[in-house]
Amino acid sequence: MIPYGRQDISQADIDAVVDVLKSDYLTQGPRIEIFENKIAKMVNAKNAIAYNSATSALHGACFALGVSSGDWVWTSAITYAASSNCALYLNAKVDFVDIDPDTINMCPKKLEEKLAEAKTKNELPKVLVVVHMAGQPCQMKEIKRVADQYGVKIIEDASHALGARFEESITGDCQYSDITIFSFHPVKIITTAEGGVATTNDSDLAQKLSLFRTHGVTREPSLLKKKDEGGWYYEQILLGYNYRMTEVHAALGEKQLDRLAEFVDIRNQRAKNYDEAFKNFPIKFFTPKENTYSSYHLYLIQLNETNKRKEAFTKLREAGIGVNVHYLPVYQHPYYQGLEYKDRFSAPNAEAYYAGAISIPLYPGLTDQDQEKVMTELKNNL
Ligand SMILES: *Cc1c(COP(=O)(O)O)cnc(C)c1O
Repeated sequence: MIPYGRQDISQADIDAVVDVLKSDYLTQGPRIEIFENKIAKMVNAKNAIAYNSATSALHGACFALGVSSGDWVWTSAITYAASSNCALYLNAKVDFVDIDPDTINMCPKKLEEKLAEAKTKNELPKVLVVVHMAGQPCQMKEIKRVADQYGVKIIEDASHALGARFEESITGDCQYSDITIFSFHPVKIITTAEGGVATTNDSDLAQKLSLFRTHGVTREPSLLKKKDEGGWYYEQILLGYNYRMTEVHAALGEKQLDRLAEFVDIRNQRAKNYDEAFKNFPIKFFTPKENTYSSYHLYLIQLNETNKRKEAFTKLREAGIGVNVHYLPVYQHPYYQGLEYKDRFSAPNAEAYYAGAISIPLYPGLTDQDQEKVMTELKNNL
């Protein structure tokens, strides 16, 4: 099976992991900070705080921005459920903004309309989780302008978008947001096996993000509430979790970063090949907007005839093409349908996209031969 996504591990990656296993620290050692500094520098952010997943980093981001019971948090209707679960963990309520059918990203106009309506009901969200679907950055200037108008904070869920750019802004530099989150799951742009990171330019948010991932515990003299009792002394000053990344994962991530530009470049080249081939196919595909550079985590297609999706999907899988679907609109999951305010969920563009959506193989190790096979099988089965 040619998978839809796959990690690319080099000998240097393996050596880096083995070195950690032979070293003194498997966790809470020096490599976390090395990894954090490297990624902060690469995305042009002041702070990077590594977590054991993007999911836990999203939880930390919502916490740092003060999300709590009674607050609303909004995200895009087409995303992985982690983008909204993070708010539910803090007992907030969630709602979903519909997508732009040409980008599958949150639609700035729909956002503006929804915010205007929410204001009349006194139900404005505290935080907006913006998702760069498939690696294509959202129209951040527009989104930030609208969010600022209503005093809404922004988290970028850039799980798909390490190495992407919006105009002059590198995704992760937080030029248009409070906090940005990246995921290092093996199908994402670089991997640490499991892992994530939060970037921010705000030192208070950075401090909260650091405390939250390690039980809310600190030895930092300026943060202690009571008297320092000696060299052993630490205090828990808020309720955090154990969301720490290990040295093993950080070492892998640090080495993977050396190949980030190469990974994203190959993904873009492969995507161009697909674009070219699909001009005459009965499908819709999504070329990035001119003012963006996509990291191309996924190559999405949408069948014109949605009644053929299931059949095409099954045939492609049978032909050894590891197609997938990203994503069921989050609010259609049974868990979300169990929320008492479920009747407000509405995103017709997201539902129309989902009905015809297929993700096809795209990853750095995809060979010319594999890609030819994918294109041939698509041609035969659509
Ligand atoms: C993968 C993903 C996550 C979760 O990432 P993990 O590192 O697996 O926790 C969150 N949001 C989006 C959009 C994702 O694709």
